[in-house]
Amino acid sequence: MTHTIVNPADEEFVTVVEGADVEQTDAAIAAAAVAQRDWVAAAPADRARALRRFAEAVDGAVEELAAIEVRNSGHPIGQARWEAGHVRDVLDYYSAAPERLFGRQIPVAGGLDVTFQEPLGVVGVITPWNFPMTIASWGFAPALAAGNAVVLKPAEWTPLTSLRLAELALESGLPEGLFQVIPGKGSVVGERFVTNETVRKVVFTGSTEVGQRIMAGCAAQVKRVTLELGGKSANIVFADADLERAAATAPYGVFENAGQDCCARSRILVERSVYERFMELLEPAVQGVKVGDPRDEGTEMGPLVAAAHRDRVREFVPDDGDVAFRGSAPDGPGFWFPPTVLTPARDARTATEEIFGPVVSVFPFDDEADAVAFANAGRFGLSGSIWTRDIGRGIRVARGVESGNLSVNSHSSVRYSTPFGGFKQSGLGRELGPDAPAAFTETKNVFIAVD
Ligand code: NAP
Repeated sequence: MTHTIVNPADEEFVTVVEGADVEQTDAAIAAAAVAQRDWVAAAPADRARALRRFAEAVDGAVEELAAIEVRNSGHPIGQARWEAGHVRDVLDYYSAAPERLFGRQIPVAGGLDVTFQEPLGVVGVITPWNFPMTIASWGFAPALAAGNAVVLKPAEWTPLTSLRLAELALESGLPEGLFQVIPGKGSVVGERFVTNETVRKVVFTGSTEVGQRIMAGCAAQVKRVTLELGGKSANIVFADADLERAAATAPYGVFENAGQDCCARSRILVERSVYERFMELLEPAVQGVKVGDPRDEGTEMGPLVAAAHRDRVREFVPDDGDVAFRGSAPDGPGFWFPPTVLTPARDARTATEEIFGPVVSVFPFDDEADAVAFANAGRFGLSGSIWTRDIGRGIRVARGVESGNLSVNSHSSVRYSTPFGGFKQSGLGRELGPDAPAAFTETKNVFIAVD
């Protein structure tokens, strides 16, 4: 089974990728299990060194990986470069883990009690198409650092950087079989990660619907699972905020990666007394977003990933009065969609469902309680922002919003050194941060009698 990749910015042919079948997936998983036994037997310092060499190989290939992502996914070059550097940094950060996977010594009567963090074995990582290489690294780097082998299935639309990362791993000296990228269909390769008993954990990032199916499948084997799913996050702007800054940054809190971002702040909630003023400031900010050729250094927003996805986003945007204003997008070939601002009712489909495109909805709110209640409406809880000069309120609202990642007077969500993940139907478990390797281990308790 093959998949043809076209450049989303100009619809030119890029390459054809051969997808694996179930037998090939099983063979890769079996090879991973063999490689894992040697990997875990190696000295922690040697595993740490191997991961640092992998990070160095990625560092040497930042420009190459970025160029691949521009052609495969349409990411602006500046963003793609950041993504490749982030993969290097994630590997660097977790290269410290093999020598720091501490257990505990627990006081008990009659002996010595210690715990060990044992690797799970083979971990299956399933990634989405929106941030192919960064999300891959959030799974494979801490999993490898904790002593596991990894099989990774990239999204069909965007496998190219992940395939190159697997080559770089081998070139850097990582053992054969330890980190394999297996392109193919979710219903074939991804599904097999769930059903093959040698895979002890599935790390899935993608839609809530597929995540639910994976969790149900994993239940049959009590297989461990981490889920990073959808979002419909709120950007809450209070009347006392630095309104100019809140409006100038709001487009970048939602239109980054053309809105194909699980953390997109796709609902802007504005205190009613400053709503009109905020909209006056937001319009030029949205029109100022530089949408165009992803190869240009100045481009801030590229095309959508695929024609089918653009059709899906289009289908959300009504022709009637809900559109307040739009930014620009190139004509001609490519899967372009302009930044679009809507003012729908709170219960409209555009206000409740994840559009995953450059579309944001703005709503007035009455007071703090109303803002928190509306931010918490719905099944998601991934990220969000709060703009206020009142630090007490910033903290109160951050504690009140049911989301895994919040920022006050900023739109920051992802740092490799801090935990990331969702409340409610936005996910299960956390990635990144100091505890991520532990999520790829089992705690083993051993009691040694002294008498
Ligand atoms: P998706 O359709 O759920 O696909 C995600 C991955 O799962 C793809 O590799 C897909 O393979 C695979 N898959 C599909 N069906 C499967 C099955 N039955 N069993 C196993 N694997 C299967 O999601 P997407 O459209 O790629 O990504 C967009 C979604 O991801 C959005 O909802 C977004 O919010 C979410 N997301 C969440 C985070 C987070 O950290 N919370 C980060 C990024 C994205 P194919 O490519 O072959 O379909």
